[in-house]
Amino acid sequence: MKNLVLLLVVLVSFGCISVKHPNVTVVEKPLTSIKVKKTKPKLVIGIVVDQMRYDYLTRFYSKYGNGGFKRLMNDGFNFKNNHFNYTPTYTGPGHASIYTGTTPKTHAIIGNSWYDKYENTSVYCAGDSSVLPVGTKNKAGLMSPHRMKTTTFGDENRLFTQFNGKTIGVSIKDRGAILPAGHSANAAYWFHGANEGVFISSSYYMSNLPKWVQNFNSSNTVKSYLKEWNTLYPIETYTESGSDKNNFEYGFKKQTNFPYNLKELARVKKPFDIIKATPYGNSLVADFAIEAIKNEDLGQDEFTDVLTVSFSSTDYVGHNFGVNSKEVEDTYIRLDKDLERFLNFLDTNVGTNNYTLFLTADHGAIDVPTYLKTKQIPAGYVNEKVIEDKLAAFLDQQFKVSGLIKKISNDQVFLDTELIKSNRLNKAVIEEAIVNEIITYNTVYKAYSSKTLLTTDFTKGSAYLLQNGYNQKYSGDVVFMFDPNYISYKKTGSTHGSGFNYDTHVPLLFYGNGIKQGETFNKTEITSIAPTISALLGISFPNGSSNVVLSEALIN
Ligand SMILES: [Zn+2]
Repeated sequence: MKNLVLLLVVLVSFGCISVKHPNVTVVEKPLTSIKVKKTKPKLVIGIVVDQMRYDYLTRFYSKYGNGGFKRLMNDGFNFKNNHFNYTPTYTGPGHASIYTGTTPKTHAIIGNSWYDKYENTSVYCAGDSSVLPVGTKNKAGLMSPHRMKTTTFGDENRLFTQFNGKTIGVSIKDRGAILPAGHSANAAYWFHGANEGVFISSSYYMSNLPKWVQNFNSSNTVKSYLKEWNTLYPIETYTESGSDKNNFEYGFKKQTNFPYNLKELARVKKPFDIIKATPYGNSLVADFAIEAIKNEDLGQDEFTDVLTVSFSSTDYVGHNFGVNSKEVEDTYIRLDKDLERFLNFLDTNVGTNNYTLFLTADHGAIDVPTYLKTKQIPAGYVNEKVIEDKLAAFLDQQFKVSGLIKKISNDQVFLDTELIKSNRLNKAVIEEAIVNEIITYNTVYKAYSSKTLLTTDFTKGSAYLLQNGYNQKYSGDVVFMFDPNYISYKKTGSTHGSGFNYDTHVPLLFYGNGIKQGETFNKTEITSIAPTISALLGISFPNGSSNVVLSEALIN
């Protein structure tokens, strides 16, 4: 009897141990990990939210539901101190850097547009006059990734899988679809608003739009978004942003407060463009991405596919209304819903443990300087024309030759090298003179000559950022940056491009197959994303990538 009681006690205790004892939990975890590790993701999804500052995760946290941003933050791995490691922080370079794992120094997308010294004209990062538009007759279809010099992880996955694994890029903006998808993509689709309201592509990828894209374009989906835009929740609950009516917003036809009647506010000749600048542009991209997964059978076989999705409307809204606006808050609350819808679709159609996803941004954005000034924070506007004229006059006087500056583009001075040669001038001397002159100008913060950037290896600070953004072949001869919070922009709305935290600090969330749950405040760089995904897939790293793998997020 005594023994039986003892046995019972032991059994009960064991029962307790198997449920509650920490040792048992420790045993269980590696088993789950091993199970996850053995299956490669069938689909990798890269999500870029255009102009998303890191603090949009935290500022609007209480407004998010459990199935969108919060799901990625709480169940995935959250890199809380992730930054762009170069300037200029624009959309083209941003998307190229995320997917190639390197900076403009190597991938050569040095801006959205830039002065090309070889073609002696301004070129666009995704522009390609050698291709034909597909799905439109408009020149909005004359696009390809040909100016990007290195491979994306999607390219490496295509090579690795003998081109069985697909890559498709989707975005409102052409460059947001084309650069992420890379050179060997099956397709990139972007939205042509204007008077057409359709997703288009170019002959770089295909000769005709697939039937499912044609069906999407002829459906009522796009038109259905030309409706009223009001706040999703009562506006008085939007306590994380400034007042709805203020002097810091540009607005639609001068209207800067809710609700917006999009049909009435749309431009008569280009009615569909307004959708891009509202949260409905993000919904539209989510709709299209879901159709792409369904119709292209993404994530359905043993060959990993790659889908790149870039939500551009966040950027248009930020430029129009500024980072502290009710419009931005509502756009993120609504994007959270679209994200939840998209994740639920992935769970059902690809399978909960069959996909790996990351979410980041192509750059952040500045608080509207006119607003900052009202709060006594140093901020303001730069007149580039004044700087250009002053610098030209200085060089004329100093070197007795006029027209030495060919162009100032993206805060880079391009010199006329032919003129320098024919006048037997020393280029290095001119560069140094420009640096010493321009640094004395109001609002100029830093300036470096190409000689300095090419002969010194910088490891931190603004010189490091400028150097990573400096391409020996394509960049100018002197580069400079403006004071913190000083921008060359209109007096309303936000912009970006600098190397300061408001432009460099962006979210980085990994989620899904092969990803641990966790978070870190350790500083990471945007160019680690591509090698991390490559490591997860066991494929070659993109050919120009040189940054570390974020191994703390990966299940070993
Ligand atoms: Zn922008």
